[in-house]
Amino acid sequence: MPYSEDEFLMISGLQHLAFCPRQCALIHMEQAWSENVLTALGEVMHERVHTAGAESRSDVRIVRGLKLKSARLGLTGVADVVEFHKVSPETSDNCNAAPSVCQGVKLPKRSGLWVPYPVEYKHGKPKPDNCDAVQLCAQAICLEEAFNVQLTSGALFYGQSRQRVVVELTPELRRETESLALQFHQLISSGVIPPPVLQKRCQNCSMVDVCLPSAGGNVQQWVDSMVEKNLKERIS
Ligand code: SF4
Repeated sequence: MPYSEDEFLMISGLQHLAFCPRQCALIHMEQAWSENVLTALGEVMHERVHTAGAESRSDVRIVRGLKLKSARLGLTGVADVVEFHKVSPETSDNCNAAPSVCQGVKLPKRSGLWVPYPVEYKHGKPKPDNCDAVQLCAQAICLEEAFNVQLTSGALFYGQSRQRVVVELTPELRRETESLALQFHQLISSGVIPPPVLQKRCQNCSMVDVCLPSAGGNVQQWVDSMVEKNLKERIS
């Protein structure tokens, strides 16, 4: 059953959930967004992308800051960039899409059909997991719902390595994205913040100072250990 708009959650939450359920809960339930260097750089990058407007390059129309939503996944957000690629007659002839699905969309004041292609900007470099890919896939699903098209791929652009990585929207990635969207809704409705699990990725986590994973999330224990550490440093 489709979600109603008041149940919509942020698409970015999928990336947070795939990274760490506790981080997702702290950000989306506690609104405890803690800015570290990585998130600050990421936000500057997103701001630049969103304020740059629209432009055209050859057979690609580039739109920035497009609002997205999917009633099926119960998600909403803003796309960094959606490129609309003009469908060539050859591509159109070879298209395997079901007859009920359009092969592209019409754009105002432009001839032909155009296929949306989401591009998500990330600070840093490609990661070994699917955290970023599921966020991109959710954006693609939103575009499919909005334009009644079937997309095959999108891209992630990494600022640090200046790499554009193509992401194929495989059935596996779509299933993972749909499953995470469901888990995200269940997490938020449960109202329960998962306990911390100290792991390697904690060192790059924006919420580490709020989460306190080395103290098991126990603020008092953390304060005590800090006091003890400071005392030892003063004595030595
Ligand atoms: S510090 Fe570690 S356990 Fe805590 S939210 Fe971040 S990744 Fe999760």
